[in-house]
Amino acid sequence: MATAPTGDDIFDEFLTERGHETESVGWQDDYNKKQCPECGGLHETSATECSVCGWRP
Ligand SMILES: [Zn+2]
Repeated sequence: MATAPTGDDIFDEFLTERGHETESVGWQDDYNKKQCPECGGLHETSATECSVCGWRP
């Protein structure tokens, strides 16, 4: 009864599926900032596009 890894396995699969999502890439959350997935630039949460590389969601 001590080992019941089923819940963790399901959670891992859930995270993996989200990580492989390539159709709709969004901002990466980084504390109270958001980070451009293209160049890694940090922006205010109100930013609508990356001022570094011009990427937008
Ligand atoms: Zn960028």
